[in-house]
Amino acid sequence: MRTDDLVQVYREHPLFLSLRDPDRLGGRCGRCEFRTRCGGSRARAYAATGDPLAEDPGCVYEPA
Ligand code: SF4
Repeated sequence: MRTDDLVQVYREHPLFLSLRDPDRLGGRCGRCEFRTRCGGSRARAYAATGDPLAEDPGCVYEPA
């Protein structure tokens, strides 16, 4: 049974706050000039690496 408010969790939980902060991204996404508009798939990063802030392994772009 859920006890926490879903909206509050989405807005305030440290994990969700980190997911909305492009400066927390790692790997190629972390140094990509498009990270504030793209940011990559956080779900794919988590599925592939266990780290939701890792680079998106499905992206072929190589930032400078
Ligand atoms: S998914 Fe690709 S284009 Fe998007 S931020 Fe990451 S490296 Fe940049």
